[in-house]
Amino acid sequence: MPRRHASLPRLLTLLTLLVLTVCAVLTGPFGSATAHGTARPLPPVLSRVPTHDRVVFLTIDDGWYRDPAAAALLRDRRIPVSLFPLPDAVEQDPGYFRQLVPGHRPAVGNHTVGHPDLTTLDLTGQRKEICAARDRLAAAFGRAPALLRPPFGRYDDTTRAAARDCGVRALVTWTHDFTTWGDTPPPVPRLRRGDVVLLHFTPTLTADLGRALTAAREAGLVPAPLGAYVR
Ligand SMILES: [Zn+2]
Repeated sequence: MPRRHASLPRLLTLLTLLVLTVCAVLTGPFGSATAHGTARPLPPVLSRVPTHDRVVFLTIDDGWYRDPAAAALLRDRRIPVSLFPLPDAVEQDPGYFRQLVPGHRPAVGNHTVGHPDLTTLDLTGQRKEICAARDRLAAAFGRAPALLRPPFGRYDDTTRAAARDCGVRALVTWTHDFTTWGDTPPPVPRLRRGDVVLLHFTPTLTADLGRALTAAREAGLVPAPLGAYVR
């Protein structure tokens, strides 16, 4: 009998220790470290860039139509633009695109290889599109792109995870599309500081660019390189 009385407090102590240990594992720093320590945060998605500077960001996508007049306008007036070209288009005429990003500024972003709606692909498929484009653009421009423009502006959290795996710092969509898609140009919006303007390498690029530059000037804004503001 004395042995039974002596073992009861010891059993209660052991049970208490066990409960405390389980609680510590579930809620304590060890559990938190496991949850947060293995994954970097997902890159943000920006349709405009918060800034106090009086700037707008001109971005040009794809690259199938390469108008020398548009290139001359950008080059001669030293207008900073950010390109999101497709690797197949770049490899057809690398010199055309290189003249637009002198000095290897970080002005070339990722726009995937095949221009799919990324939300229709699983993680492996999205990663393949983004990482392969990264490698081919790095070969063409000497620098891996840090920004991703998802085709059609379509993305999901899987896109952000795939982008993170391919070294992307941020996804950038747009505030206003200045591209003339039909017979007439779209209405010109009032630009605000930090807006991202979308343009495309199409036959109307020179005219679309002209309207964007006029809208920027009327709003008291100047074009700035996206890569300098998204870090
Ligand atoms: Zn595109």
